[in-house]
Amino acid sequence: MKNENSEYDYDLFVIGAGSGGVRASRMSAAQGAKVAVAEDRYMGGTCVNVGCVPKKLYVYASQFSNAFKDSQGFGWSAAKPTFEWSTLRDNKVAEISRLNGIYEDMLGGAGVEVIHGRARFVDKHTVAVGDKQYTAEKIIISTGTWPYIPDIPGRELAKTSNEIFDLKTFPERILVVGGGYVAVEFAGIFNGLGSKTTQLYRGPLFLRGFDKDIREFVSKEIAESGIDLRFNTNIKAIEKQNDESLIAILEDGSKIETDAILYATGRKPHLQDLGFDNVDVELNENGTIKVDDYFQSSEPNIYALGDLTGGMELTPVALAEGMAFAQTYFNDNPTTVDYNTIPTAVFCQPNIGTCGLSEEQARDSFGDITVYESSFRAMKHTIGGRQERSYMKLIVDTATDRVIGIHMVGDDAGEIIQGMAIAMKAGATKATFDSTIGIHPTAAEEFVTMRSPRE
Ligand code: NDP
Repeated sequence: MKNENSEYDYDLFVIGAGSGGVRASRMSAAQGAKVAVAEDRYMGGTCVNVGCVPKKLYVYASQFSNAFKDSQGFGWSAAKPTFEWSTLRDNKVAEISRLNGIYEDMLGGAGVEVIHGRARFVDKHTVAVGDKQYTAEKIIISTGTWPYIPDIPGRELAKTSNEIFDLKTFPERILVVGGGYVAVEFAGIFNGLGSKTTQLYRGPLFLRGFDKDIREFVSKEIAESGIDLRFNTNIKAIEKQNDESLIAILEDGSKIETDAILYATGRKPHLQDLGFDNVDVELNENGTIKVDDYFQSSEPNIYALGDLTGGMELTPVALAEGMAFAQTYFNDNPTTVDYNTIPTAVFCQPNIGTCGLSEEQARDSFGDITVYESSFRAMKHTIGGRQERSYMKLIVDTATDRVIGIHMVGDDAGEIIQGMAIAMKAGATKATFDSTIGIHPTAAEEFVTMRSPRE
């Protein structure tokens, strides 16, 4: 609720109009707070501009190459399809600019004042944007994270996910460095679009933190899809050749010639030039902002939410935090976010969908678990001819019969796991899964027909 006697210009000033900042602004304004949000780059933040949204559009684009091939077994024939990068890129630009407008209108419609520019703390209740100063009772920092490239010679020749969508020319060859979400998703995108794609990961198996069976299954499928997947390797230096192509020199001295190098080696909080010297906001060891369960920093009127607090860097998590913030501080309803059983999908090809514990985590936490798994070739690929396989896995706490981990690799895994996550959150047992009638013929029905535990 708005503080009628406030001595400040605003009840809430939000720095950064990404997923979390926009949601916190709108929801707080909906409770009657006087709110302003400052954004120096693009409305909607990483997700809308250089993350989830353009990524998914490019994933769709990349899937057509297989779809054209699959269609032949179903009787279709057509001239050899060709791909035009500039069409995809320019259509993406138009769509994102449409979404930027929607975000700006949405904020205006909610009564939030939008200020374009980088906000800098002057003191704990005052921020400056350009030569103007604004005061606020509460201030949220929601400036997100920024891609990070390790300090190697030639690092300026590499691209990050901030630039990769807008390359001037399509790279016939691309090298992707990293083994997290962004790396596997972009390796899949460029492979599907027709680039000769190499992915390098520094450790023995990528997608650290995911279930080991899932990681192994995906690495096999990805390699079979045509990506040159190399583990236990890293780049030592990058050089440019006269014809603009690049040479990646690996730690073992070997070289790879390529047209573009994408670094997807993680992200760091985007806190530059925020005037942190003027406030007492404590950081965690890894540079993220330290907050309590209600997003409050060590400076009691300053809050932080979204990626830069060091939790799961996921848009729906930032949205939930924005909602919880507004409920807590402007609706007198203290609300925390439940960070357990957060479902997530990786849009590599095939997709990964996952919710709850990996087998390794489940064994550590519960000891006695029962594992069910199934691997099969999806019906579409029988006539279509693709060799790609799907994999599903349920992890059950043997003592209570509760399902504590659900994992899938296969088409639409994200869509399927979203529903499964509701069942898990509701505390579904394996018996509940078994008593659920399947939808036939689907891949998802496999989740309710896995009867025999793995030996
Ligand atoms: P991640 O932290 O997920 O992965 C970074 C990868 O880079 C890891 O494989 C890491 O290896 C490797 N790495 C780190 N430092 C180096 C280095 N110096 N040299 C070589 N390799 C290195 O970061 P991403 O950028 O992929 O994604 C950021 C976050 O964004 C994700 O964690 C996710 O939360 C979110 N995201 C979500 C998506 C979705 O929901 N579908 C899509 C894209 C991003 P190691 O494992 O050995 O540390």
